[in-house]
Amino acid sequence: VPEGDAVYLTARRLDAALSGAVLSHADLRVPAFATAGLTGRTVLATVARGKHLFTRFDDGRSLHSHLKMEGAWRVFPAGRRWPGPAHQIRAVLQVPGRAAVGYRLGVLELLPTAREGDAVGHLGPDLLGADWNPDRAVERLLRQPGRPVGEALLDQSALAGIGNLYKCEVLYLRGVSPWTPVGEVADLPRLVALARELMVANRDRWDQVTTGSPRRGERHWVFERAGEPCRRCGRFVRTARQGVPPHDRVTYWCPTCQPGPAPAGSPVPPRRPPRR
Ligand SMILES: [Zn+2]
Repeated sequence: VPEGDAVYLTARRLDAALSGAVLSHADLRVPAFATAGLTGRTVLATVARGKHLFTRFDDGRSLHSHLKMEGAWRVFPAGRRWPGPAHQIRAVLQVPGRAAVGYRLGVLELLPTAREGDAVGHLGPDLLGADWNPDRAVERLLRQPGRPVGEALLDQSALAGIGNLYKCEVLYLRGVSPWTPVGEVADLPRLVALARELMVANRDRWDQVTTGSPRRGERHWVFERAGEPCRRCGRFVRTARQGVPPHDRVTYWCPTCQPGPAPAGSPVPPRRPPRR
């Protein structure tokens, strides 16, 4: 029975073999995905989530597979004959120089990368999912109370789906520094509820708006506004990387409107020039 370690190693092997390469041929031997159109897509990564594998492509989709009892992914050099009975082969992902072949896979499906969380039970409640449970999300966030809230909000095992934009915006709207320990955030349930409100309000549109103004350049409070004046206080919006690589992300915040801890050594932005 493939355990988590085997799945992890399989993910590492697939990641090394495929990531960054363009699929020259892809064959999913499952009727629902026989015409999936993966050829020509670039493989971004393969990751393990529990016992699940997700191979991500540059069109926003992921191939979800599960080894179950006796499945396996194997990597062969180009031109090598694939061993074993052909009917046990469920998936083939070919890139220049090599091919990854999936045998006897228990699960094989394509899904939006953003919805990988739906496929794994151990993830936190999905902010837009049918399983949304704010109390459980808050409880999971508080399991590591010393962790900076800007990191905790992106932890998919605490709550799934928030993303970097909503993280930055909701912390601004609540006046909380992204480096505040999550256990010290005032009214964390209100912050989580606001994150959901922002996401629900935006889920059916292309451009994410948190300010209420859909006009270009006015849609966000701080996200992607480094060096621009805060819309409330006029001080410059700051930016810094936050989190542990490779999961670190760029955080935006206003040090005046979001007082609290901040990264050591990051430059203090200049004051806005006084108006004449
Ligand atoms: Zn401000």
